[in-house]
Amino acid sequence: MSAEEGQILPPGSVIGILGGGQLGRMSALAAGRLGYKVHIFSPEKDGPAAQVSWKNTVADYTDLAALEAFARSVDVVTFEFENIPAAAAEVLAKVKPTRPAPRVLHITQERLREKRFLEGIGVPVTDFRKVTSAADLPDAVAAIGTPSILKSASFGYDGKGQVRIEAGMDLDDAWQKMGGSIAILEGFIDFDCEISVIVARNPAGEIALYEPARNHHKHHILDTSTVPAGIPAKVAHAAEAIARQIAGEIDLIGLLAVEMFVTKDGRVLVNELAPRPHNSGHWSQDGAVTSQFEQHVRAVCGLPLGNPARHSDTVMTNLIGDEVETWPQLLADPDVKLHLYGKAEARPGRKMGHWNRIRPKS
Ligand code: AMP
Repeated sequence: MSAEEGQILPPGSVIGILGGGQLGRMSALAAGRLGYKVHIFSPEKDGPAAQVSWKNTVADYTDLAALEAFARSVDVVTFEFENIPAAAAEVLAKVKPTRPAPRVLHITQERLREKRFLEGIGVPVTDFRKVTSAADLPDAVAAIGTPSILKSASFGYDGKGQVRIEAGMDLDDAWQKMGGSIAILEGFIDFDCEISVIVARNPAGEIALYEPARNHHKHHILDTSTVPAGIPAKVAHAAEAIARQIAGEIDLIGLLAVEMFVTKDGRVLVNELAPRPHNSGHWSQDGAVTSQFEQHVRAVCGLPLGNPARHSDTVMTNLIGDEVETWPQLLADPDVKLHLYGKAEARPGRKMGHWNRIRPKS
């Protein structure tokens, strides 16, 4: 371990977070509770994270001078948003410990790279082919079969940049709809359920795993995450072993969400990685001894990790768009813990908040 890796950043230090949304907000709140100050770097003024932070820099992720000045003003840099340009991460990492490292962002911000990395370490993924033009698509469809899903290789989230391919479909049209320049075609998995495991790893190599959450999506956006996930212990152990392996192989410092499909015959396939706190880990705020946000702070500051164990059965439900208007009913239920993000405008599809319903541990 290098001296830098072993360094513990004591409370009172400044954590720099790239990204100004709700994940940054909840990380900042957890950091504040442990006595840290948070400096947010985001193109957006007065966003969810800025509202609860010590300092804010409002600049674009391509503004290298602003990024460098930001890095100089903090003690450690982390992210709540992984789609920042590689050049930005490199600039930050030259100045201050940047956790997770730029290499982790590089792997996880492009689907093709991510899948190849996972395949390379022997982690099961869906069958896929690289597709770089509409002309490539027929061969890829012939190899993978239908139904399948065409996904833009970069900058996709919440189902954006994805087109489901059915037999006999107009493939030129599908390519146009996908809208990206590089894509992957993936076999469609008729899964039993979707789960995710959040894993934290600190500079000493200590690992903490959250148990799998069962995720349910509505219109391609996460709707609920439930723990316990109601899956066989064997499947849960396989999912946890995969998350542990990835965290070690990628040399994670921070948090990583591993989204997976559980097939009808009980296999676990990794769909996607996100090297940051994740929506499917929000249950941990009220259902676990240590929330994912506190764990994020502990990991990037080199502190010992907290206990990730569930103390309450929890269902997390997102509040999307005008669903946020149900807050009075939610607050009237004493077993509901409400989390709102301070966003002024409830646009359709926008994550405005979430709530956790907690019950005694089963
Ligand atoms: P992603 O952006 O890759 O996380 O995909 C968003 C959602 O689309 C996933 O959570 C799944 O519900 C669905 N999905 C993505 N890829 C596949 C696949 N290969 N087979 C079946 N469903 C998929």
